[in-house]
Amino acid sequence: MELLENYLRHICGTEKVKVNEPLARWTTFRVGGPARYLVLVEDKAVLVRLIKALEYVEYPYFVLGLGANVLASDAGYDGVVIKLNFNKIEQNDVFIYADAGAKLGAVVNYARDHGLAGLAWAAGIPATVGGGIYMNCGAYDHCLGEITVMVDVLVHGEIKTLTQQQMEFGYRHSVFMEQPAVILGAYFRLEHGDKTEIENQMQVVIAKRRRQPHAPSAGSVFKCPRTDFYVGKVVESLGLSGYTVGGAMVSPQHCNFIVNTGNATCEDILQVLYHVQDTVEKHTGVLLEPEIIFLGKFE
Ligand SMILES: Cc1cc2nc3c(=O)[nH]c(=O)nc-3n(C[C@H](O)[C@H](O)[C@H](O)COP(=O)(O)OP(=O)(O)OC[C@H]3O[C@@H](n4cnc5c(N)ncnc54)[C@H](O)[C@@H]3O)c2cc1C
Repeated sequence: MELLENYLRHICGTEKVKVNEPLARWTTFRVGGPARYLVLVEDKAVLVRLIKALEYVEYPYFVLGLGANVLASDAGYDGVVIKLNFNKIEQNDVFIYADAGAKLGAVVNYARDHGLAGLAWAAGIPATVGGGIYMNCGAYDHCLGEITVMVDVLVHGEIKTLTQQQMEFGYRHSVFMEQPAVILGAYFRLEHGDKTEIENQMQVVIAKRRRQPHAPSAGSVFKCPRTDFYVGKVVESLGLSGYTVGGAMVSPQHCNFIVNTGNATCEDILQVLYHVQDTVEKHTGVLLEPEIIFLGKFE
């Protein structure tokens, strides 16, 4: 057994370390080859030790949330994929603290149960708190950054607390895209509200989401280049609805989604993505920027 594998088993626990683990099992696109190692980390102290060790030996690692915005290469990832298995959620007046591994949906439900308003719009977004903050996920004119007042992060082995301003939130953007850090947990500022009213708002949002494609995907593939440019509508108007390569297809339900119809490879998805990107650029002059994150080796 390799030294690194031994170390991972020692600090994470033998059963928490998977070797050559298919990333297709851990991403919502359901594609991706093997990660050299995938580890489930149960607490922050272990995470700090692990990251320090990996950085010391300069071994690559990638923190994966729900994998809801990640396209993993068919060739897999030659490094350690880290899944955070700590998910505490706590309230203090109008503030909620949530561990990075907590599901955003659990935070949304927790807020409702504690009569805290300001997160109903996020109902149904598949995300962890860490992945949601990294992406500054959003919907219906809201985004996570607007309520994220502080975040605990690990930077080069040191735990720091960043303020909202320091996180430089923008449209599907956070500072973590330029200055990598491991998000450990976040503090959200909400408002007192009525539980029934919050639940009703959530139901409206969930009903809208039910109309989205159900096949495996990563949500919207491209960022919206400007407010009057609806990517899905433009793609549809160019006749690309249902465009298919292998098992990957532009969803006829929402043309900014590429769905895995059952047996897609990452390469199939990329072929569809490039074709859409080229066609849109040819007809509108706009080069669409992918919103999704690429994991692993790509040509
Ligand atoms: C059906 C469907 C609907 C969707 N709808 C929406 C929507 O309405 N709005 C929207 O914005 N998005 C949407 N998405 C995309 C996705 O839900 C968001 O991008 C979400 O924020 C991804 O969170 P995640 O935990 O899955 O992160 P992942 O996809 O696992 O990771 C995304 C990035 O975050 C980084 N990351 C994750 N955790 C940490 C951490 N602890 N520290 C540092 N970096 C970290 C990863 O390294 C990666 O770079 C949708 C996806 C699907 C499949």
